[in-house]
Amino acid sequence: MKISNKKDLKGVLEAQGFSFKKSLGQNFLIDDTVCPRMAEAVSGEGVGVLEIGPGAGVLTAQLSHACKKVVSVELDTRLKPVLEQTLADCNNVKIIWNDILKVDLKTVLAEEFCDCDTINICANLPYYITSPVIMMLLESQLPINKIAVMVQKEAADRLCAEVGSRAAGAVTVAVNYYATAKTLFGVPRSSFLPPPNVDSAVIELTLREAPPVDVADEKLFFKIVKACFAQRRKILLNTICNTLGIEKEVLRKALTEANISETVRGETLTMEQLAAISNALCE
Ligand code: SAM
Repeated sequence: MKISNKKDLKGVLEAQGFSFKKSLGQNFLIDDTVCPRMAEAVSGEGVGVLEIGPGAGVLTAQLSHACKKVVSVELDTRLKPVLEQTLADCNNVKIIWNDILKVDLKTVLAEEFCDCDTINICANLPYYITSPVIMMLLESQLPINKIAVMVQKEAADRLCAEVGSRAAGAVTVAVNYYATAKTLFGVPRSSFLPPPNVDSAVIELTLREAPPVDVADEKLFFKIVKACFAQRRKILLNTICNTLGIEKEVLRKALTEANISETVRGETLTMEQLAAISNALCE
């Protein structure tokens, strides 16, 4: 059954006695131009797509038409009868009823997509789990090619910012370490039922084959990145020493080695400079 507008979606949900749960970030897409564009970003011949949070299945149906196979992970089992109806014609879709943060994704991807050439991820996530889920997907070393995800407009600006620019945050560096990020298109709040209080954007993260910088100790690198953005207004020497408990003289030496001024603000550092500090501290 095709549901592409507010009236159809409301009809299906009401017929099943479904009520939206704010705590699960349930704002469902009702704009029939958004789902095809999201699906297009991740689809192709031989492509398997892992979808997170199918909701009423509007995006899932588009993915089903455009890809070889779709596996969708949904936490809210109240959506079972809804998805049975909306995905009745979609024979290449499997639903896993679980919390995405508890699923063993390595095993699921290996078992479900063994006959696919490429694996992509597509999600319209609840905004409160957007960053943890994106970071989990990037850090887990999954065999995925790209991720198209709907995020709050402000999060899109931050995630896709240039490292070293004012719009960047620790998450910008983290995402950039694993992927290249770009905003595909904006989505107004009126595209959802019920409408959220914020506007959104769909971003695309294309996984890198290797990080853009050589880092000797990733844990230390990310600790330094966090420290640089935790106290954005303070100068580098104080920020890193205070947060990581490193002696000033040790850091001074590392900064000199990396050719970086100790009075610069951490948020302005490039990826290469952050890696240089981290590597100098490892020696
Ligand atoms: N994809 C649908 C759409 O675009 O209309 C629904 C998007 S809605 C913003 C988010 C969906 O994620 C809801 O169906 C919600 O139940 C589900 N969800 C929330 N937390 C989840 C979690 N931890 N794991 C899996 N699904 C989750």
